[in-house]
Amino acid sequence: MINTIGYAAHSHNTSLVPFTFTRRDLNTNDVQIDILYCGVCHSDIHQTRDEWGNATFPMVPGHEIVGKVTAIGSAVSRFKVGDSVGVGCMVGSCGHCPECDDHQEQYCNQAEFTYNSPDRISGGSNYGGYSKHIVVKEDFVLRIAGNLDLAAAAPLLCAGITTYSPLMHWHVGAGDKVGVVGLGGLGHMAVKFAHALGAHVVLFTTSPSKSEDAKRLGADEVVISKNPEEMQAHLGSFDFILNTVAAPHNLDAYTSLLKRDGTLCLVGVPDQPHPSPSVGNLIFKRRNLAGSLIGGIQETQEMLDFCAEHNIVSDIETIPMQQINEAYERVLKSDVKYRFVIDLASL
Ligand code: NAP
Ligand code: ZN
Repeated sequence: MINTIGYAAHSHNTSLVPFTFTRRDLNTNDVQIDILYCGVCHSDIHQTRDEWGNATFPMVPGHEIVGKVTAIGSAVSRFKVGDSVGVGCMVGSCGHCPECDDHQEQYCNQAEFTYNSPDRISGGSNYGGYSKHIVVKEDFVLRIAGNLDLAAAAPLLCAGITTYSPLMHWHVGAGDKVGVVGLGGLGHMAVKFAHALGAHVVLFTTSPSKSEDAKRLGADEVVISKNPEEMQAHLGSFDFILNTVAAPHNLDAYTSLLKRDGTLCLVGVPDQPHPSPSVGNLIFKRRNLAGSLIGGIQETQEMLDFCAEHNIVSDIETIPMQQINEAYERVLKSDVKYRFVIDLASL
């Protein structure tokens, strides 16, 4: 076993504290990684606080992992010691269902998540990236190109793929009018990607102070969503809207902004349901209300390669591990520009 240290939550209402634990010895197809950086996703907060009702403790969160390979199993062929690599939200899946066959492992009924999920190999629980080391099957390890800043690349492993995948699935490109709701970790990546794909990007925010940043990140227009007149000006005009908000809110405000056949895609996962949307808003223009979960491993690699080609990374605030509890409080106040990334050298 490999001894390591991280930060864990031991219950839904206590702070994260230092935690020592072990990683499994390498199997033939495993990659051992020294973790350098780990992004702080709002999902980490939802799960450590048991807002989704499925928490198991102790819980070491973290699924935006970047590090260096330190050892490989004898059957590993795609990585060598010293490579820069990433691990996202998944570390396993069944490998033989229609979803896995289609490279959509995130929709596999047996998808194994990076933390708060049973470890099917050791029989214990998976512990995530708020830690110094991790051992992951080669098939779930991603390559990070040399030109990307490693700390700023970490959020690509969740915030990046979660926004890139729906933009690809709904074929967003030049000539499309695309909305992004919420300028947080996911939202700021969605703005960058939609802009890079050539769309006309409108950012919806509850924080007027973020307007200038939104334009710098690639938004063509910014709408303060609390202002009904600004919202009205965009009625019936969007091809696609990606909603990243982590709290329940009125979805009709956004479905009414879609063109005929337009799609509002939800990626935010609030702890309480949204008010039920108006059916009339949907049927009279055949509008679509959809959802999307992260993205498959093949598409995550495509996204990382797209980022390397277009020089896209996350805008980050780096923190030492010891500041994680304060960072959570700031995320809850929408006060992060635009992703916290833990520097594991601090531990
Ligand atoms: P985040 O950094 O906290 O960003 C969320 C943004 O939503 C905030 O910055 C804020 O933007 C806006 N917002 C917050 N509260 C709001 C409210 N009451 N009303 C309207 N807007 C509000 O969170 P994140 O890490 O991007 O994650 C966002 C959500 O996506 C979370 O629920 C997370 O669990 C989920 N998630 C889903 C997937 C998936 O696969 N579907 C993957 C990762 C994360 P403004 O200040 O601009 O308004
Ligand atoms: Zn995440």
